[in-house]
Amino acid sequence: MITPEYQKQEPHKNTQAMEKYIQQLLYDLEQIMLQRWRACPPHYFQAGMPSPFLMPSEGWEEEAGEDVEAEVSEAESDLDFDLTIAEMERWLECEHEGSMFSAFGLEPEQFPPLDRLSDEQVEGLTFALLRLWESFNFSASFPNKTPARILYPLLLERMLEGCMVLDDGHIGIEFCEYDPATCPFEMTYCDCREFMTR
Ligand SMILES: [Zn+2]
Repeated sequence: MITPEYQKQEPHKNTQAMEKYIQQLLYDLEQIMLQRWRACPPHYFQAGMPSPFLMPSEGWEEEAGEDVEAEVSEAESDLDFDLTIAEMERWLECEHEGSMFSAFGLEPEQFPPLDRLSDEQVEGLTFALLRLWESFNFSASFPNKTPARILYPLLLERMLEGCMVLDDGHIGIEFCEYDPATCPFEMTYCDCREFMTR
């Protein structure tokens, strides 16, 4: 595993390095989504379900099946990126039973912890993760106004667990089990307490 650039920097000096790192990570996530959309457009997208997380990545066209090779060689040459694509291809060829991270061709270490990120960076990464999930037919259930700072670590934690990726189906993932004592969303955001007292 290559140490991400931001981890090599002194914390007080790393603002620029981190921003550069985040931009590259967001780009890499879009490329993973693009490959997935080309191999298998999301189930809910095909079913015509509207969602802010079901927007295709730039470069995707409905009938673009044959252009994958050409597009990949045109993409910026970057070792990490090539590895990710190779992993994706290997995974697409065989049944996969690993974590969501490995299904996506990602490593947990690629995602900086909350205390190293600005609000804007957490929001960007959280939105990208939700889009990534949808492109692999996973939907996260969470209260509408949940801040990205609560959601980001929950998504990453869930990605450590196993998963089965469906091409023609869809899996909803819940974080609240309708028990206010263990609800990961603060009561400000989740209405499970209300649900319990009904
Ligand atoms: Zn709850």
